[in-house]
Amino acid sequence: METSTLNKIKRSAGNILENQLLQSGRVLEVRHWQPSTMIEIDLHLPQVDMQSWHEVPYIKVKVDNLTYRDYTPASWDAETSTCTLYIDAAHKGPGSKWARELQNGDTIRYFKIRTTRHAPASTPAIIGLGDESSMGHMLALQQMVLPSTRFSGAIIMANDDHRNLFDQYFKSPIKPIERRDAFGHNSLMRWVMEQHYNLEHSVFYLAGNNTMVSELRKLLKLQGYASNQIKAHGFWS
Ligand SMILES: Cc1cc2nc3c(=O)[nH]c(=O)nc-3n(C[C@H](O)[C@H](O)[C@H](O)COP(=O)(O)OP(=O)(O)OC[C@H]3O[C@@H](n4cnc5c(N)ncnc54)[C@H](O)[C@@H]3O)c2cc1C
Repeated sequence: METSTLNKIKRSAGNILENQLLQSGRVLEVRHWQPSTMIEIDLHLPQVDMQSWHEVPYIKVKVDNLTYRDYTPASWDAETSTCTLYIDAAHKGPGSKWARELQNGDTIRYFKIRTTRHAPASTPAIIGLGDESSMGHMLALQQMVLPSTRFSGAIIMANDDHRNLFDQYFKSPIKPIERRDAFGHNSLMRWVMEQHYNLEHSVFYLAGNNTMVSELRKLLKLQGYASNQIKAHGFWS
């Protein structure tokens, strides 16, 4: 059989399967930060039971033909089934392109929502550390920590304006900090050292680019934090 015919059959089988598995949501509002490489998307997901979100969730979104990317629903309201995605679109990729082109009123398609298994431990200090791609993850974690005074953290943000906007937009103990190294782990570690966290009662939640997450994990262990005090989720490399 010719390759082009085989590809057509594969595509059409994929489309049939997709239609059976995918669920729909609606874009309520898209906000582009300035510069517009950070995109904030309010969604209505009527089929989702957000009351059951006790671990930081993620959603596998269709961003192109048979192409999916993971994003984190944050700032959710279970009563109205709405949430917000924060998408770092400073690089080239189908996910970035999809986010840049989204408009108010669009329909999105996604697979079932899954969990990262990040849930706040019962300890006095929950510390979130990440990069621009894990802003949603850290805000979602913040939403789950009670009392909120237990939560703190930092996010590496390369852009000065984005750091200012983060401070303006959110009432958050998360500190946006300058990126001084390519992946961000050294900048984050310097910040951690300045905080003088308690060695026994702190639990760290790391998310974002894989190098940052794995190097930060090593640096925290060198400081004496035990493996079970470090929850890590690499997002991309
Ligand atoms: C559980 C989970 C939750 C996630 N939640 C979010 C989220 O809420 N918001 C978010 O922005 N991302 C999130 N991500 C990361 C996102 O899924 C990836 O960054 C994804 O690769 C982006 O797809 P893309 O098509 O834009 O780029 P790809 O086609 O996957 O990659 C193209 C190129 O860009 C590089 N790249 C990918 N992402 C970035 C980035 N952020 N910065 C710089 N270079 C990059 C890749 O290394 C590659 O070289 C999450 C990932 C996981 C696993």
